Amino acid sequence: MGNYLHFFISIFALITISTSDKLPKEFEAKVIGVKDGDTIEVLYNNEPIIIRLEHIDCPEKKEAYWKRAKQFTSDFCFGKKVKVISKGKFDRYRRLIAEIKYNDKILNKELVANGYAIHFKKYSTDASYDSLESIAKQKNIGIWSQKSSINYLEQEKKKTKCKKEVFICNSTASKTYHYTKECGGLKHCKDSIRTICKEKAEKKFGRVLCGFEKN
Ligand SMILES: [Zn+2]
Repeated sequence: MGNYLHFFISIFALITISTSDKLPKEFEAKVIGVKDGDTIEVLYNNEPIIIRLEHIDCPEKKEAYWKRAKQFTSDFCFGKKVKVISKGKFDRYRRLIAEIKYNDKILNKELVANGYAIHFKKYSTDASYDSLESIAKQKNIGIWSQKSSINYLEQEKKKTKCKKEVFICNSTASKTYHYTKECGGLKHCKDSIRTICKEKAEKKFGRVLCGFEKN
C-alpha cells in the first residue's frame, strides 16, 4: 500500500512540474489573488501560478503608492478571467514573468501609464513602456506626483547606477576613499569600513582618493 501511495505522489509531482514547464505562450486563467501591484496569482488547470508582471516595477510594501498600485491591479483583474502572455520564463522566486490582458488592455502598461509603476529598465528594453513612463512623468501622476525632494524610485534607480564601489573608513576624521579593502591607508581605521559608490564618496562626503592609490 505504501508503495502505491508513493507511486501516486510521484506521478502527481511529475504532472505538477510538467504543467508549469509546458505552459502555452498565451492562456486564459482566473485571477485568484493580488499580492502587490506587480504580483498576482492565477488559477490555470486547477493549478495556482504566481505571476510577476513583465517590464515593470511597482512600489514595495511600506513605500508610497504601494497600496494604490495594489488596488489598481485588483480593480483591473481580481476575480476575472484574463489572458496571460509570457515567454514561459520564471524568475528566481519561481514566478512566471508575463503580461496580463483583459478587455484589450494590458495591465502592465496601464500601471505605468497611470503612474503606479516604473518601466523596469534593468530587465526590459521595450520602448513602449519608456514612452508610457515619460507621459506619466509629464502628467505628474501617481508616484511622479510626489512633491518631496526625494522620490524613492529615482533613488532606487541611482542605487543601481553605481558604476564603481569604493571603501571608506567610517570615521569622520577620514577624508579619503580606497579602491581596495586591503589598502595600507585603511589599516589604521579604528571605525568600521563601508562600501559605497565612488560618486557618493566624492560628492556627498567630500572624500578624495587616498595617497597610496593615486598612481
Ligand atoms: Zn587607499
